[in-house]
Amino acid sequence: MRCPYCQHTDSRVLESRSTEAGQSIRRRRECLQCKHRFTTYERIEFVPVTVIKRDDRRESFDSSKLLRGIIHACEKTGIPQVRLEALVDEIEAELQQRSVREVTSNEIGELVLHHLQGLSEVAYVRFASVYRQFQGIRDFVETLDRLKSHTSEIDAECVDKSSSSQAIEEEASASLMTQS
Ligand SMILES: [Zn+2]
Ligand SMILES: [Zn+2]
Repeated sequence: MRCPYCQHTDSRVLESRSTEAGQSIRRRRECLQCKHRFTTYERIEFVPVTVIKRDDRRESFDSSKLLRGIIHACEKTGIPQVRLEALVDEIEAELQQRSVREVTSNEIGELVLHHLQGLSEVAYVRFASVYRQFQGIRDFVETLDRLKSHTSEIDAECVDKSSSSQAIEEEASASLMTQS
């Protein structure tokens, strides 16, 4: 980093502070030649990510759209919206850090599932039922069985709702996959 006063290339860092809620780092520097002080900011580069949908159409990743889809799929699961917002932020940060700038909607769905798993079993099942577009009731029952094998706390009412209410699933699915 060149000194803005004398163009010397070496400086020492006097102080580093995280700003913008951890989105950037502010550094106070002192030029080793002229001793002038100046400030630099370091932030993560933001690069647009392209989503490849199931029908091969491409669109740029839209975090608010993903959030809407997740909120819809997680209705009545008791997860506060702030948790879902944090989840979307985390997924976006993960996508930003990849070397590949394209991601399939399936990969995003699996990322969401991965994160929901630790948050709520019910939300996990509901989201899986929408995202993986279960081929039939057998897939759904298998997923339930897998979950039941390591938890006994599945809210039967919610699970029943998500299996029977095809309309809700289709609507949620539409908002995840095809909304534009
Ligand atoms: Zn200088
Ligand atoms: Zn993660």
